[in-house]
Amino acid sequence: TKYVYSFGAGKADGDGSMKALLGGKGANLAEMSRIGLPVPPGFTISTEVCTYYYQNKKTYPAALQSQMEAAIKSMEKIMGYKFGDAKGFPLLVAVRSGARDSMPGMMDTILNLGLNDDTVLSLVAATNNERFAWDCYRRFIQMYGDVVLGVQKREGEDHEPFEVVIEGYKHETYHKDILDSDLTAADQQELVKRFKQLVKERTGKSFPSDPWDQLRGAAGAVFGSWMNDRAIVYRRKYNIPAEWGTAVNVQAMVFGNTGPTSGSGVAFTRNPANGANEFYGEFLINAQGEDVVAGVRTPEPVIQLKKEMPKSYAELLEVRQKLEKHFKDVQDVEFTIQEGKLFMLQTRNGKRTAAAALKFSMDMVKEKLIDWETAVLRNPADQLDQLLAPIFDAADVKKAKAVATGLPAGPGAASGKIYLNADRAVVAEQKGEKVLLVRNETSPEDLRGMIAAEGILTARGGVSSHAALVARQMGKVCICGAAALEIDYDKKTVTVAGQTFNEGDYLSIDGTSGTVYAGELKTAPSEIITGMLHGDKAAQATEKFKSFQQLMNWCGKATRLQVRTNADNPEQTQNAISFGAQGIGLTRTEHMFFEGDRIDAVREMILADNVADRKKALAKLLPYQREDFTGIFESLKGLPATIRLLDPPLHEFVPHDEKAQAELAKKMGVSVEKVSARVAALHEFNPMLGHRGCRLGIAYPEITEMQARAIFEAAADVAKKKIKVKPEVMIPLVGFKKELDLQVEIVHKVAKEVMAEKKVKLDYLVGTMIEVPRGALTADEIAETAQFFSFGTNDLTQTALGISRDDMGSFLMPYTENEIFKKNPFATLDQTGVGQLIKIAIEKGRKTKPDIKLGICGEHGGDPDSVKFCHRVGLTYVSCSPFRVPVARLAAAQAAI
Ligand code: PEP
Ligand code: MG
Repeated sequence: TKYVYSFGAGKADGDGSMKALLGGKGANLAEMSRIGLPVPPGFTISTEVCTYYYQNKKTYPAALQSQMEAAIKSMEKIMGYKFGDAKGFPLLVAVRSGARDSMPGMMDTILNLGLNDDTVLSLVAATNNERFAWDCYRRFIQMYGDVVLGVQKREGEDHEPFEVVIEGYKHETYHKDILDSDLTAADQQELVKRFKQLVKERTGKSFPSDPWDQLRGAAGAVFGSWMNDRAIVYRRKYNIPAEWGTAVNVQAMVFGNTGPTSGSGVAFTRNPANGANEFYGEFLINAQGEDVVAGVRTPEPVIQLKKEMPKSYAELLEVRQKLEKHFKDVQDVEFTIQEGKLFMLQTRNGKRTAAAALKFSMDMVKEKLIDWETAVLRNPADQLDQLLAPIFDAADVKKAKAVATGLPAGPGAASGKIYLNADRAVVAEQKGEKVLLVRNETSPEDLRGMIAAEGILTARGGVSSHAALVARQMGKVCICGAAALEIDYDKKTVTVAGQTFNEGDYLSIDGTSGTVYAGELKTAPSEIITGMLHGDKAAQATEKFKSFQQLMNWCGKATRLQVRTNADNPEQTQNAISFGAQGIGLTRTEHMFFEGDRIDAVREMILADNVADRKKALAKLLPYQREDFTGIFESLKGLPATIRLLDPPLHEFVPHDEKAQAELAKKMGVSVEKVSARVAALHEFNPMLGHRGCRLGIAYPEITEMQARAIFEAAADVAKKKIKVKPEVMIPLVGFKKELDLQVEIVHKVAKEVMAEKKVKLDYLVGTMIEVPRGALTADEIAETAQFFSFGTNDLTQTALGISRDDMGSFLMPYTENEIFKKNPFATLDQTGVGQLIKIAIEKGRKTKPDIKLGICGEHGGDPDSVKFCHRVGLTYVSCSPFRVPVARLAAAQAAI
């Protein structure tokens, strides 16, 4: 078996496709060597050896040693140096780990391996640089002692033992703090002696002087690190199987620290922050790679090399072009220049911001490096909202003080004066103030305050809490569950991080990261939003805007899954359509109940204790609802609209404090006692599992009747204006076929009446939400009546997991830390659990009705991973809040490519 893969001098045994066998780093080193880039020669010990090592009590296959010897020989030939040479320039090597993906927690790097008391002298002679040689040796013992021999900080020690020796020596010799770079050759020599002593003390063994012992030890340390705690934790988190194993890369050392004609640097082939097609990076003259990132000396921009080392710079530019042409993506490279000669040490795909990803992908299509499908795949869907969100001024953030963190529930940046109640927020906004609404949690009563606010901050609640979903639907910045906030409604204060903020003081929230800042920070809206939604011509002329539109057009070309929106009014609908939504997947009718003074009619309806009174109140509500639906149908211009009948438990709409109850009693002309008794009667211990959903319509069929009438009358009116309408009436929380039958019967009856009265024929569907497990499990029966299913994955998750969507905040942290949840199940669909219920429902539903229309309208409809799942299981559409429509479209397109 071949265990060792050599590379160097324009050749390689392996190539870039062999990541499983050679690891990411090894495969790319082979690839770079193959395409003729100046890679120091070396070899990769394959991941199969790692597997062998663990299956055979940490021993190596017999053939390994001879293969390594051959590989070293070929390195010696290319370099003209010898491994362990005590006469000429000794071949020194770097040893690095290399799993398929770079993996924190693994052994990183050992440099200068091959040095001992003899070879250090030959290095001195060959370089004529005593200080340099002893410095290399000293660093090698320190690194090797630490990672291979385990000479590390023990319990109760504050500092690394090697650092303690260095500090001790400096003080003893110079009586003050001096820089490592000020140490002389003699100092380094003395440190080497003391380091070896330390190793002996700590390990009971001498530091290995035979280069081959050193090499085998280092390889063993790499394989050993595959099973250390940090690596195991990381693998568990990212679902990397332990069987993959790691490779070991052994590569000839090149030195960037031999003098003024040497140096090291790191660079991106294009700017990873803004996407500009410019060589971007930094370097240090007379330094090793680690010095560049360590931050002790400030590196210079890589463009400076043009002046200081023009020949190397020209070579680098050539490498840059070759790399991009070959890898067809932006690369992140490390290089070293040794005495004017350039070496490439590493390349990998560069990490990038959303803005850079967009620009890279567009430019590379123009340059014919990639096709449009690849360009779509190059834009990470979970980063796309970065492009739509308002952003904080970068300089302001640097100066700002972070006081708390919460769940990033609505992306973007908002800054404003805090108000702890909706009414005061509205008043402040009317006075022209920028407002942040801060609450323990929000309820439908807070809607007006939320509309008035730039952003919403809550101390409790999760990413599918009321605040979060309403905020996203409105495109508001939102942080939920910032548990550190102590909110005192009476004193009107928020206390956090030892600081107390009064109403009217400024806070700033970053809903993309979940960070809360003290004070006011400057913000700016995204060009994409102003261009798309407000028709801003200047914004539309920007490259970013045009690129975004191009991306969305490509998405439309690729996708199979449709994207609809969750919207409750014409403005939200219009926004979503501008983003490319193909209809409404969910209108929550009750979200309009708090508009204007219609809440009074709602309350009257709820508090009525007989059918006649209830009908009277419903009659007042009817015109409001009809008006709402008319607006929605008109703005849809023929696209379908799924309108859901009343869903929430009624107690959410009634006043709970005495004063408001008294006012209501007066308005209704009844006694306060009657109102408070009725409110008390509505109390439920577990309202989310109580009297809600279709259970309301079953108990009060007149509510269903009124809502159906409002829908069909609006549809008829709009149809008469020659605008197409496609209403889809949706019954919530169905678990039994009979529930649906009873409600559907009413809907059909009302539809028939309205069509006769208005003399129009309406095309409509009646369907159901699948959002309780029994509904999913009996989907075959339910499909006999339902013309469509829409998965309400918020409630389906809540009921399948038996975890309250509103109360999860208090244990989300330990559940995440213990990895019980890989991701918050209310944000990203739990595919293994809840996903099964969805698959069962699809299968059973289709058995009864093969062409049944299937959608999803829970918050998961805007989450990239969940959208991809929806594509795979064959849903017709996903529905999400307007501002997530682009994200869903991108994810849907990526799933189809
Ligand atoms: C759901 O349960 O997924 C849903 C969309 O309905 P709501 O969030 O209004 O309960
Ligand atoms: Mg629901």
